[in-house]
Amino acid sequence: MLKSLSLLVSSVLAPPFCGHCHTYLSKCFFGYFSGREPLCIDCLEQVSPLLSTKIGTLKVHALSGYDYPLKSLLNQSHETAVQLGTFLGEQVVSSLEVDCLVPVPRYKTEVAKKGYSASLVMAQQVSCLSGIPVVECIQRVKPSLRRGLYTKVERHQYNQGVFRVTPKISEVEGKRVVLIDEVCTTGSTLVEAAKLVKLGRPKEIEAVVVCRVLK
Ligand SMILES: [Zn+2]
Repeated sequence: MLKSLSLLVSSVLAPPFCGHCHTYLSKCFFGYFSGREPLCIDCLEQVSPLLSTKIGTLKVHALSGYDYPLKSLLNQSHETAVQLGTFLGEQVVSSLEVDCLVPVPRYKTEVAKKGYSASLVMAQQVSCLSGIPVVECIQRVKPSLRRGLYTKVERHQYNQGVFRVTPKISEVEGKRVVLIDEVCTTGSTLVEAAKLVKLGRPKEIEAVVVCRVLK
């Protein structure tokens, strides 16, 4: 029931156009198109196979490299984040053993400016489709760095202390946690987030992102 309700909501909110080439999604009709495909079939075929890499001990699963067509869906809108959440849930999270989802949090002023947090929206959509709970056990206390302007070392140094735990940290104890984010660049943000989540003594932590920048 919850799932069909969420699909109905997505079908109303998400326009039936491909998020990359803007082709009208002809398969759209009530009960079929449900925000399920953020891309048309031609663009979907261009999405590279799932990438799974390790950053230190953290396993990171990505839907694709930092490439089109998925790259064009990043940072678009709340509706696009919902579609990406559906995509992540069906293509990645469904193949993992997961007890809870932890969105990599955005800084409060960034959320206020955009009106939503993409990682939270994606995690909530995965949760809606799978029933896996979202646990906001970390919060961001420093704004994010602009992409591409800093070296890996500078980014790493800045990311020290970028998060702090919330009282919900106790909820991850003994659980298999998946961190959710849009992009993994050097991985230092994900590693820092994982470091904080580990304070709650989870059984396991992995990360799932839409795009992974491969150097
Ligand atoms: Zn397309």
